[in-house]
Amino acid sequence: SLSDRLTGTLKDLRGKGRLSDADIDATAREIRLALLEADVALPVVREFISRIKARAKGAEVSGALNPAQQVVKVVNEELVGILGGETRRLVFAKNPPTVIMLAGLQGSGKTTLAGKLAKWLKGQGHTPLLVACDLQRPGAVSQLQIVGERAGAAVFAPHPGTSIGGGDNALGVSAADPVEVARAGIAEARSKQYDVVIVDTAGRLGIDTELMSQAAGIRDAVQPDETLFVLDAMVGQDAVSTAEAFRDGVGFTGVVLTKLDGDARGGAALSVREVTGQPIMFASTGEKLEDFDVFHPDRMASRILGMGDVLSLIEQAEQHFDAEQAEATANKIGSGQLTLDDFLEQMMAVRKMGPIGNLLGMLPGAGQMKELANVDEKQLDRVQAIIRGMTPQERNDPKIINASRRLRIANGSGVKVSDVNQLVDRFFEARKMMSAMAGRMGMPGARKQVR
Ligand code: GDP
Ligand code: MG
Repeated sequence: SLSDRLTGTLKDLRGKGRLSDADIDATAREIRLALLEADVALPVVREFISRIKARAKGAEVSGALNPAQQVVKVVNEELVGILGGETRRLVFAKNPPTVIMLAGLQGSGKTTLAGKLAKWLKGQGHTPLLVACDLQRPGAVSQLQIVGERAGAAVFAPHPGTSIGGGDNALGVSAADPVEVARAGIAEARSKQYDVVIVDTAGRLGIDTELMSQAAGIRDAVQPDETLFVLDAMVGQDAVSTAEAFRDGVGFTGVVLTKLDGDARGGAALSVREVTGQPIMFASTGEKLEDFDVFHPDRMASRILGMGDVLSLIEQAEQHFDAEQAEATANKIGSGQLTLDDFLEQMMAVRKMGPIGNLLGMLPGAGQMKELANVDEKQLDRVQAIIRGMTPQERNDPKIINASRRLRIANGSGVKVSDVNQLVDRFFEARKMMSAMAGRMGMPGARKQVR
């Protein structure tokens, strides 16, 4: 993963307080690989990396983060920006019905999405009508009917083998013509006061001209307010050519990414956004109707980078640590000169961040700290009480805490001598371990580790 690789790169950045061109290049190389691994298209990666380098070179050096963390932060911000910053919302027509047309390859998840969207819109007080314009695939119409029933939404569909409503109905629609079905669906919505129409269309396994001209015909007949291009996130590198074909053949105003419950890292999202300029609006994460949400650029960015945990750690570190104090502490940690006062201060800062176990779990290479992660909140209270029961000299130089001092501290803070012993032993152990970790993570002030 990227965080493993960056830990490797970090070895060379160790001890440096600011970003040099070489630091940026080294980190950029790793990020380039991570993006390619996430299936971002090569031209998009190139463009992106050059933008990152330009930004990282002018970046302010932050005391709270080490150089690689800073580059990751810049990369993450750029990714979130490109993926859309704030999510774009659906545009509703001034005069209902609002028409939403779905387009995409067969199997991309259009019909499933139709149901999800209908349910979601109903939850917001709309009355959607689903229109079945996929007359290509046997069973496609009944699939939409089932989906509509589950969503509690009406479905407009031709009866198999007949015209709509029987042979001689007023609409006189041929069941074989999706464009006519689409047109009749809109008329139905007008007369029955549905305020949103979702038009499900046929897809092919690959892009073909017949598919495109049929979709374009439906588009011209229904004049959609939104055309959503539905894209299977698992398609990887094919995303760009498929998106370009639909952009040129039908045009679209937004993208829906599906199958994000799979193991795809989602580089398709970045490629499609960059190449077509259209926003990603929704994300589908499973087969059930509830597995659906508006698209969250920040979640997708951390998924593409493959280091969500590191990103949340960076964010929390920035929020809760005073930069200068953090740097001073990091220096002390790195050189093995942490005092019990620092320890207490760190502990309080860490507690502000939330359950200590979560935080320690986020640190790269935190396996060794499992023991500390098991410390529960009550024990933390006791540790705090013990440290507060020490004199400033004792906190500054814990080596002076001899047997008689331990007894005094235990009595003063209402614990047993063995608790004081345990804390002091643990502190020395932790100080050693943190110093070693700081070395590996390239924290400022860290001593080079002798192997
Ligand atoms: P269409 O051909 O574009 O209409 O695609 P469908 O809606 O029929 O979906 C094709 C298959 O993908 C079906 O088996 C769906 O259940 C499945 N599917 C759709 N969306 C998702 C999703 O977000 N996650 C998963 N795991 N499966 C999905
Ligand atoms: Mg379908």
